[in-house]
Amino acid sequence: MSIVEKEKILGYTGKILRIDLTRNEIKEEDLKIEDIDNFIGGIGLATKIICSEVNPNIDSFDPLNTLVFMTGPLTGTMVPTTGRYVVAAKSPLTNGWGEAHAGGFFGVKLKRAGYDGIVIKGKASSPVYIYIDNDKVEIRDASKYWEMDIFETDLSLKDELKNKEFSIATIGPAGEKLARIACIASDITPDGPRIAGRTGMGAIMGSKNLKAIAVRGTKNILIANVQELRNTLRRILPSIMSSATVQYQALYGTAGEMWILYKVYGDVPIKNFSLGEWDGVENIIGEAMAKTVFKGHRGCYNCPIKCWKIVETENGLVRAPEYETIASFGTMLLVNDPHFLVKANILCNKYGIDTISTGSTIAWAMECYEKGILNKEDLNGLELQWGNKDAIQKLIQLIGERKGIGKILSEGVRIASAIVGKGSEKFALHVKGLEVPMHDPRAFQGMGLQYATSNRGACHLQGLVLRIEQGERVLDLKIYERYNRFDTEGKGRIVALMEDWYQILESMIICKFFPVPPTYVATFYTLVTGKTKKLPELIETGTRIFNLQRMFNIACGISKKDDTLPQRLLEEPLNEGACKGQVVKLEPMLKEYYQYRGWNENGYPTKEILEKLGLLAYSKLLK
Ligand code: SF4
Repeated sequence: MSIVEKEKILGYTGKILRIDLTRNEIKEEDLKIEDIDNFIGGIGLATKIICSEVNPNIDSFDPLNTLVFMTGPLTGTMVPTTGRYVVAAKSPLTNGWGEAHAGGFFGVKLKRAGYDGIVIKGKASSPVYIYIDNDKVEIRDASKYWEMDIFETDLSLKDELKNKEFSIATIGPAGEKLARIACIASDITPDGPRIAGRTGMGAIMGSKNLKAIAVRGTKNILIANVQELRNTLRRILPSIMSSATVQYQALYGTAGEMWILYKVYGDVPIKNFSLGEWDGVENIIGEAMAKTVFKGHRGCYNCPIKCWKIVETENGLVRAPEYETIASFGTMLLVNDPHFLVKANILCNKYGIDTISTGSTIAWAMECYEKGILNKEDLNGLELQWGNKDAIQKLIQLIGERKGIGKILSEGVRIASAIVGKGSEKFALHVKGLEVPMHDPRAFQGMGLQYATSNRGACHLQGLVLRIEQGERVLDLKIYERYNRFDTEGKGRIVALMEDWYQILESMIICKFFPVPPTYVATFYTLVTGKTKKLPELIETGTRIFNLQRMFNIACGISKKDDTLPQRLLEEPLNEGACKGQVVKLEPMLKEYYQYRGWNENGYPTKEILEKLGLLAYSKLLK
């Protein structure tokens, strides 16, 4: 009997789908009450499953690695922005904790089919896809889709299924070829895709010979207290929607605040984080893109913000590049042509490669070329000067196909720089193997600490501390003061608090761009599930999830030595721009952070912390 029937807990379906591709086996498993009590859902449950079941010492491409797709208790409900899903596994890029997230509708359909998540082990003997149509689940042949790009796969599979109601999550050729920067794309046509981009989750699908998952679900998601939930939303939505951040996102997408981030804060990375100013920015900020290339707005399931912008191509409407992609291929490579950014985004999507990792790795290759470390012969005949659009386009193709120099670059910047050597490691910008995203931590000290300590490597989304450093206060989390962005004091505490809180957003799952006060997230959970949760309990749950991922990383050999930043961010101040003269002063922040978390000087959670969080059963990860 599931928790829904036995405990009368709504919001969840109560069932997890377990698929073993080696054995061609499909099973259903009941969700356990203690698991939702301790880990809620989404990334929390994915953490519990992976940390309990995956041997941290295996290679990421070992069939025993486990790929987990999860929804959360709020997924698909009337709470806005709850269309997202998470996907997690041991990462081939970091060799430790890996996770990625995407919006759209895939997660909602999975839940409506009757499953809170899918746990996939093993490796199929030939390409397959997983077919889920409500209760009907099958492992089907996908040979004819292998080598197709994500758009072709989506359209062809929908043709086979003769039903456009399916949401499809797929990999492109890069994932099939085990490019470590491969992503998973979902809700691709029309006007998508949505991308679970980071930490190489697409390569994990490829290593399992799993081309795609097609899901259709038509069941109702039951909610405990519909009327009160409706009343609560009516009360709080107007003030959330009137916030400046939301307004910018709604009008201009995630690049809506790009000009402020550049001009006021010096946060936008330029030329592989080596410049503080560049005139080309003006052409590619959200407001400019809205005039030149954006053709409309779309939203994930039940989203009033609709930050997802679209562009027109000869093949119809597709998703426009978001801020991270605009900066990765624009400011990082000195390209100020919005049309080219659209093209680069589509090309990366086609092959199924993460745009942040791809843009960053190309930026590193350009710097290698500039410094004479890589020459034309090394680069398949390409003259890789900054801003050379033809060369960038060719390089994306080579990376997507894993050919020539693209084979090395598709491994991500850490491995590529280790192969090339000659001092190029110095300007390979990554943390724990994950390429640094598009916020310069010299502009926000706390972001530096967040990048250094985030479990999946350099991650802007595990806390978004820059918002606090821009002056936002989160009273529910006891963040009362306004913090100076260049100060280090207090940053250990706020980074830890925000990291833990974002684990909760990813466990519920609710979009990080929907600025709902934390107390209301607890209220939503209570009203949806009928099970009371107060904010302090949620915060402790976030801390539990974060610590358990940390323990998994430690078992993978990732620890204090990896809680650091690229040399450029620690030692090389910029000569111009709004964060001129700054470097990240990591050590004092890290010390305060370890103390706040109750970790020892080596960055290990202490026995007392494990006991408090109920994690003693996982102590073997620290041996
Ligand atoms: S704010 Fe953007 S990413 Fe978040 S749910 Fe809405 S459309 Fe999706």
